[in-house]
This record gives sequence, structure tokens and C-alpha cells, in this order.
Amino acid sequence: MQFQRHLHAEGYSLGLLNIMIRNDWTLSEIEQIFNTPVLELIYQAATIHRQYNDTGEVQVCTLLSVKTGGCPEDCAYCPQAARYHTNVKAQKLLAVDEVLKNALEAKESGSTRFCMGAAWREIRDNRDFDNVLEMVKGVNEMGMEVCATLGMLTTEQAEKLKTAGLYAYNHNLDTSADHYDQIITTRKYSDRIDTLENVRKSGISVCSGGIIGMGETEDDRIAMLHTLATLPQHPESVPVNALVPVEGTPLENQEKVSVWEMVRMIATARILMPKAMVRLSAGRVRMTTEEQALCFLAGANSIFAGDKLLTTPNPGAIEDKAMFQLLGLKPRKSFKSKVLELA
Ligand code: SF4
Repeated sequence: MQFQRHLHAEGYSLGLLNIMIRNDWTLSEIEQIFNTPVLELIYQAATIHRQYNDTGEVQVCTLLSVKTGGCPEDCAYCPQAARYHTNVKAQKLLAVDEVLKNALEAKESGSTRFCMGAAWREIRDNRDFDNVLEMVKGVNEMGMEVCATLGMLTTEQAEKLKTAGLYAYNHNLDTSADHYDQIITTRKYSDRIDTLENVRKSGISVCSGGIIGMGETEDDRIAMLHTLATLPQHPESVPVNALVPVEGTPLENQEKVSVWEMVRMIATARILMPKAMVRLSAGRVRMTTEEQALCFLAGANSIFAGDKLLTTPNPGAIEDKAMFQLLGLKPRKSFKSKVLELA
């Protein structure tokens, strides 16, 4: 693989500097980019990042679990699946007021996007969904971008969320189509794609990415990026997560993902989807400031803030503030993409 990586360096150092937005990437093109020697890959990605984005800005999002645990699905990485014996205690949907209080605190500490996660297989048309619509409305009125991750949804449910003021919907592909049944058996890859289509049709912006370190091969990583980069429209946000193994889940003994693997994913995502917010997501807690800086250089321009990411640990606000100061980064304002679209 190293030899192959060396071979590909020259072609790509010439070819990529004026890359266009494309949705017709081939697997072999992506493989070549992914296998570029890492310093060259970072340089290429940083160059493209500069062409399309303000590299001094990083979007700061807060993610709150509004309904925790007790999930009927079997995602092998997830401590919220009811069937695994983890430390997560199941909790019913939080009250609307409590969620709005959390959102206000997130806003005051500098977040411009507030994401609400519920451990549901899919949205059901019931009182809980009505309450989520109230939460969306309330957070939207605070002037924050509201995002939700609530499982599968229909077009009608997506439209209701849009009407309530939802800005983005997260639904990760998690991994490649081929590796999917090693990770989840209670739904199909095509279900994920259908939900993404329903979100897109409603006019809500799409947030979709995956997790590395779940026993997948590099070909699986390339295939997942290929699926994302060849959607009819690229997701506006692409979270790149490193598995945080949790005791009691089937993936509890997976080895830690190296920073170079994260950098390779982030840089390739940046080159393939130049305008997307590429989010350095789970796993940040195990990275040094230097490692995170490398990810920003490679094109990451979004993070999750707050000391918890749903149920797993995340760096605290004080550490992040110090990192922003040190690296000369500033938080991206909310609704900036909307403003640019209208301009
Ligand atoms: S990732 Fe989501 S769908 Fe899967 S088990 Fe966890 S909460 Fe349920």
C-alpha cells in the first residue's frame, strides 16, 4: 500500500488544484486520492479548502441527547442499544423547557448549531414527535441552526420538521454498503439512503458521514466516501467519527484509530466535497491539540462542543476555547451558508 501511495503522488499534485464540484467520482479516482502520500494529501486538501471556505472559521455545534437509550436497533458501536449491557440508563424524551434551557446555554457558550438526538429507530407520529417539533421551533427562534437526528423518517415527517424550522437532519451512513451488515442487522443500507432522499426533498440540509475504526477495510472507507460524494447533491455536513469503544458493546475491544487515518478521511472528504462542512466528531476527546490542528489543516471545519457527545465524552468548552485561541480560529456564524446562497 505504501508503494502504491508513493506512485500516486505526482499525478494528483498536478491534477487537483482547481477541482470542480463533482458528483460523478469513480471509485478508482477516490482510491487514488485516498492513497496519496499523507503530507501531499493534506496539502491538496488544504488548497481546496482555501478555495471554497474561510479556513479561519470552525462551526461549533452542540449535540444533546433528548431521548437516551432503550433503542431497539443493534448498531454494534452504540451504547444506547437496549440489547447491550452498558452504563447508559434509558431515559424518556426530555421536557421541551429543559431542552430549550440547554439550547440557550449552548448559545451563550458560543455554539451556533444545536443538534438534538433521540435513540429511536424511526420517528413515530405521536406526542413525542409533537414535542420534538416544539423543541425545533423554540431553538430556531433563538437564532441557532437546529439539527436533529431521530432515525428514519418519511417525507411528511420531514416536511413537518422543515415547517417547524429544522435547518439540518443528521443520518449517518456509518460505513460502506458492504460492511453494513457487520455493524447493523436491524435495517438496510437502502433504508439510510431513502431517509436521506426524504430529507433532501423537504429542503432540509443533509448531514451524513460515518465512523471509522469498526473493523472495516480501507476499501470500505473509500466506498463510503464514494456513496456520499456521488449523492445527487453532496451533504452540507459530513461528520467523520473515530469509534469510541464502549464497554458492553460488540465493538468494545476495537483498537484506537490513529490520527493519520482520521486525517486521510477528512482530507479525502474535503477534496471530494469541497463545500461541505467536514465535522471532526466523535473521538476528538482522545486527540491532542496538535492532532486536531492537523485535522483542521486537512479541511475539517466543524466540531461538536460540550463535554458529552450523546453519551460518550468530548472535550470541554474551556479546552476548546484555549485551542481556538492558540490556533487563531473563530466560530462560524449561524446561517452563513443560507446567506451565501442568497447572495
Ligand atoms: S445508533 Fe441510533 S439507531 Fe443505532 S442503536 Fe444507537 S440510538 Fe439506536
